[in-house]
Amino acid sequence: MQVPIAAIATAPGRAAIGIVRVSGQGVDAIAARVLGAEAAARLAPGRALHCRFLDAEGRTIDDGLALLSRAPRSYTGEDLLELQGHGGAVVLRLLLASVLTAGREFGVRPAEPGEFTRRAFLNDRLDLAQAEAVADLIDASSEAPRAAASRSLAGEFSSALDQLAQRFTGIRAHVEASIDFPDEEVEELGLAEARRQLDAAAAALDDVLRRARLGAVLRDGLSVALVGEPNVGKSSLLNALAGREVAIVSQQPGTTRDRIERSIDIGGLVLNVIDTAGLRATDDEVERIGIERTLQAVAEADIVLELVDAGTASVAPAPPQRPRGSQGEDGKQVAPAPSAAVAPPWRQRLGRDAGGLTVVNKIDLSGHAPGLRDGALYLSALTGAGLDALRAELLRRAGWDRTPSEEGVFLARARHLHALQGARAHLVAARQQLAGQAAALELCAEELRLAQLALGQITGQVTADDLLGEIFGRFCIGK
Ligand code: GDP
Repeated sequence: MQVPIAAIATAPGRAAIGIVRVSGQGVDAIAARVLGAEAAARLAPGRALHCRFLDAEGRTIDDGLALLSRAPRSYTGEDLLELQGHGGAVVLRLLLASVLTAGREFGVRPAEPGEFTRRAFLNDRLDLAQAEAVADLIDASSEAPRAAASRSLAGEFSSALDQLAQRFTGIRAHVEASIDFPDEEVEELGLAEARRQLDAAAAALDDVLRRARLGAVLRDGLSVALVGEPNVGKSSLLNALAGREVAIVSQQPGTTRDRIERSIDIGGLVLNVIDTAGLRATDDEVERIGIERTLQAVAEADIVLELVDAGTASVAPAPPQRPRGSQGEDGKQVAPAPSAAVAPPWRQRLGRDAGGLTVVNKIDLSGHAPGLRDGALYLSALTGAGLDALRAELLRRAGWDRTPSEEGVFLARARHLHALQGARAHLVAARQQLAGQAAALELCAEELRLAQLALGQITGQVTADDLLGEIFGRFCIGK
């Protein structure tokens, strides 16, 4: 057991109950001083003891419940004492001070953010993916991420990763056996089997990756940027999207305009829409900084919706003039999709068109039929025609072909996706080593080892200290 750490584990402010916890060496001695020897002697795991909490001079600070868990069967894997008192700021501060005084000879110190969970990880009570799920559970902003985090905490993600790792080990053993016994017939049989197993492992990995990608979108939302010339209808589209299933979760004020980003819930998936309406060349320094920020957000967006006006001759041949609503009965489009013949300024600046979707707005004026055609989405922000098609396309691009359901989704972080993609690349390389006539068995085994290492980064079998610092540093104090 390590040096004891102590912290107030409940949120600051007035509350019915507040908790101070202490974990590590000397918990029994600390309990004897803070609770009094007689009460401390009655402490036992699995039992809530009602007693008084004392300061260093033996004066009563408060009374409440004391709970003891013994190593290794505690949250941290060490001896752990939790004191539940009244939730006032002064009570808890005095109680923490008393614990710190009582444990001085053991070197007790205030815990850093996430340090209890970090110890749980170091003592094998949780793997790293589970520890991260603890933070995700606390931070969950709605039911779907909550459910996914809770499944990760229960070990679902970790066990999917373990199963993958076991597959890799199995194949490696197979390949290494072929290296050791280079009898030709055996080897030929073995290689065919290894290839088959590698393909199956790649399919299993792809499934985990797909579920992790869905979870990443569920966790962080999908960032969508609206770009286009003034007056093409960016604000109108944003309002139309937000208006129907209105769930504006947050508004981030910009420096020059009232907002830059709006969160819109489309059936469980959060869109973080970056609104570039009002971007214009300016000499004003403050406004210029706001514009820079918005352009940066656009550059990082998952999907860029590039709005064009269905009736603008400069971007598309004008559709034949028809009276409103007199669209051809065959439903065919009446004009080719406008193409961005002249690259708009944000394109030139960002040099990016991946993840882009052209949205042709104002079809109520042009007579185009709504929907997705030739890679462009036709709609009218005014009448709402085509909006459902846009929502469906956004969901599809996010990987949710239907309404999001959290079933089977892993609430992955960017570092998880990165590691999974790394594992996948090594698996592909391993397969290539077996592809030709002259199979490079050693290289194949090495790629499999690297694929395993990549997976191990997620659960924390291989971790650098600075990664742990970064992960646990974002926890709250006392967790
Ligand atoms: P922004 O500058 O790109 O944000 O464009 P706005 O959303 O402010 O729209 C510019 C003008 O186009 C406004 O007068 C809107 O009412 C109008 N508008 C936007 N969408 C449509 C549409 O689908 N049909 C029609 N007829 N007018 C639209």
